[in-house]
Amino acid sequence: MIDFHCHADLYRDPTAVLNEAEARGVYLLAVTTTPLAWRGMKSLLSGRRRMNIAAGLHPELVAERFSEVSLLEDLSGTRYVGEVGLDGGRTNRSSFHKQDEVFRRVLKRCVAVGGRVLSIHSRSAPGGVLDALAGHPGAGIPVLHWFSGSQQDLERAEKLGCWFSVGPAMLRSAKGRRLAELMPRDRLLTETDAPFARASASRPLMPWDVSKAEVILADIWAVEPTAARLKLLRNLRTLATCENGFPMSVAEKRAAQHK
Ligand code: MN
Repeated sequence: MIDFHCHADLYRDPTAVLNEAEARGVYLLAVTTTPLAWRGMKSLLSGRRRMNIAAGLHPELVAERFSEVSLLEDLSGTRYVGEVGLDGGRTNRSSFHKQDEVFRRVLKRCVAVGGRVLSIHSRSAPGGVLDALAGHPGAGIPVLHWFSGSQQDLERAEKLGCWFSVGPAMLRSAKGRRLAELMPRDRLLTETDAPFARASASRPLMPWDVSKAEVILADIWAVEPTAARLKLLRNLRTLATCENGFPMSVAEKRAAQHK
């Protein structure tokens, strides 16, 4: 199982969640919302074989945390960047220019350091995100998380080399499923966006709830859930090979290769 966009530091008891995710064999990318949170999170992740951490500055926090962007520009300590991107929703529109500046500064740094894997937020701003990516070839591998743009946006993203991560919350809606159907199968991963994304009003999604997304993707692809899981692991392996990220066991590599 893969949770490629999890705000693990925001659970009430991150260590307990990470321990259980580890016991269940979840590959996890812990995205952060501020560069300072990234620093704090590093120790929680150290020594966890299937887990990596991404350095981010969430577009919704740019207005109040703009001063931290310089910390984010030092990317020497991470291969993963996120959560970054743009939010064009009404509540964040006033900071849109600052968001764009931050996102472009981060992309520029990614180009300078030879590319990174990025987990990107594009709610209500898919065009702006794609414009910025188009202006920074060599920034690395953009993974558009919970993508909710139009079909044309999706086609453009695909041409720009974007990957996608989809989760149970996104796949609950007909629009989300429709977009997932159109996404390239070779560039798709699962995610939760937990604990923001919820299983119910009283319970946040947990990293291992990505199994629900696997089942829906299996249905879309008309394959067995086990085959969908292996396909997703194979995708992660492709990504990991590009960036020397998540190490896989020999058995997992073999299973991924033969599907
Ligand atoms: Mn998120």
